[in-house]
Amino acid sequence: MKASAFNYARATSVLNALELLVAHGEKAKVLSGGQSLMPALNLRLIYPELVVDIGGLAELRGIAVADNVLTIGALTRHVDLARSPEIAAHAPLLTEAIAHVAHPAIRNRGTIGGSLAHADPASELPACMLALDATIVVRGQAGERRIPAGDFFTGIYETALSAQEILIAVELPIAQRNSVHFFYEFARRHGDYALTGLAAQATVAGGAFTGLRMAYFAVGDRPLLARAAEPLLNAIVTPALLSEASKALAEELDPQDDQQASASMRRHLAKVLMVRCVSALLGRPDLNAG
Ligand code: FAD
Repeated sequence: MKASAFNYARATSVLNALELLVAHGEKAKVLSGGQSLMPALNLRLIYPELVVDIGGLAELRGIAVADNVLTIGALTRHVDLARSPEIAAHAPLLTEAIAHVAHPAIRNRGTIGGSLAHADPASELPACMLALDATIVVRGQAGERRIPAGDFFTGIYETALSAQEILIAVELPIAQRNSVHFFYEFARRHGDYALTGLAAQATVAGGAFTGLRMAYFAVGDRPLLARAAEPLLNAIVTPALLSEASKALAEELDPQDDQQASASMRRHLAKVLMVRCVSALLGRPDLNAG
């Protein structure tokens, strides 16, 4: 199919893009890498009057480290994340996760800002933002807002961004020396969207977690932290504790049936991932023995 007719504007600056968005209200759409927007246009799932292409704005591209914060510009492409030594050193969870996002051709154009603004609940990067306790930086004509990742994703393809705002960057606290991470997703084929996935980061001291953030994806309408299970595991983990955390996890998740997998299968996979994650991060194969 072909997209319905729309006007196209290539923004010359963030300010210019914001002016265009304000002038057209809900009828304008931002274009970054186009890897989700173009299919949606071509399938006629959306009918914007105007597409505002921000792809040429160099100010929104790049990775910087300062004051223990890793800042990633919205237009930084997936391939740039994958190859970045700064990301590998300070947010290695992202380096691992990005290899599971789609295929090389898509990673060559897709951007982190586009992925987060698109907010597919089965996407890897939104869950990583939760696990890493990121702050999402958005700009409107009134100025910038900094939104914790936990408040940014509000539903299926829905975020706290208004139609007159642009996501400009994400900020991540840099990984501590004793921090460990885990990433795994079940997918029918490598590069497909996940059936169920888990991105986690923790600090470990004395054989126990001192801070564990387990962010699930593809098990609800948005990425979700395992808020009930996590505190149970911030201790010396025993099989009994793990089993209690597993039950808490199953109760807090609300996956749906779809063509890819049933809700009960997703819930089961989420529990399997939690056991693998805890066992791997603590170096305790005994916990994964059953
Ligand atoms: P675009 O397509 O340009 O935009 C996506 C949406 O975000 C649009 O609504 C747009 O208006 C909005 N937007 C974009 N940038 C901004 C901004 N800076 N501020 C405000 N709004 C903005 N993704 C995964 O996570 N995992 C996968 O396994 C996966 N598999 C894929 C397989 C295929 C075949 C395809 C085509 C895509 C797949 N994707 C997958 C999606 C891909 O990662 C996209 O790159 C990503 O979702 C969107 O990034 P983009 O830069 O292309 O955004």
